[in-house]
Amino acid sequence: MGHLTLHNACKSFGTVDVIRDVTLEVQDGEFCVFVGPSGCGKSTLLRMIAGLEDITSGDIRIDGQLVNTTPPSQREIAMVFQSYALYPHLNVRDNMGLGLKQAGQPKAQIAESVDRAAGMLDLGSYLTRRPGELSGGQRQRVAIGRAIVRKPKLFLFDEPLSNLDAALRVQTRIEIANLHRELGATMVYVTHDQVEAMTLADRIVVLRDGRIEQVGAPMELYNNPANEFVAGFIGSPK
Ligand code: ADP
Ligand code: MG
Repeated sequence: MGHLTLHNACKSFGTVDVIRDVTLEVQDGEFCVFVGPSGCGKSTLLRMIAGLEDITSGDIRIDGQLVNTTPPSQREIAMVFQSYALYPHLNVRDNMGLGLKQAGQPKAQIAESVDRAAGMLDLGSYLTRRPGELSGGQRQRVAIGRAIVRKPKLFLFDEPLSNLDAALRVQTRIEIANLHRELGATMVYVTHDQVEAMTLADRIVVLRDGRIEQVGAPMELYNNPANEFVAGFIGSPK
């Protein structure tokens, strides 16, 4: 489960059209990457899917169900941002389990879910530390762990690696790819990094000024970019 469809999705802030007629189907279990220059609307589109921005017109469906007005907490989605947004006064275990606690899950069940996620992310020996005692990469893994424990149908990532140094970026990218394989969940991932897009994506969506410029598998776009703009992002030089 985790099939996402956008149909003529539009978003305006006042008189400014930021997302224009985006129609897209993301298959269950697919790793879909949004790329495009700064300001083209990647974060806005992700936030619309999450329910953090309302849609001006058009439809968003998850597993066939219209969610245009469904609050974020009821969309079975987890979002990982570029800033980790962890609670500094809570240790790793409590940061990861907080959402489940708020949802009223019993303690033993929370502990089991947190332990499983910590195992996947190699965080098992850091559970009693606070965020201030962790590296940037470990903090980002805690943020990802917090998303996993909720067992969402759909993961949304907004440039999750951009605050990490080069070596950690590679390592965390590999972890995200492994996680996708293990969980089989649908992932929609925003980046402006070509290497991340090429290595992670089943399909890449190239955005420009709030519109979809081209959609395709990484090698399709690389070998057959529709235009200079796409070529500039992922195509091979012609
Ligand atoms: P990206 O993530 O691709 O860099 P964004 O989705 O953050 O782009 O922004 C797309 C456009 O929408 C930008 O021009 C930005 O200034 C504008 N925008 C984003 N959020 C708001 C907002 N809350 N109010 C007004 N304009 C916004
Ligand atoms: Mg953004």
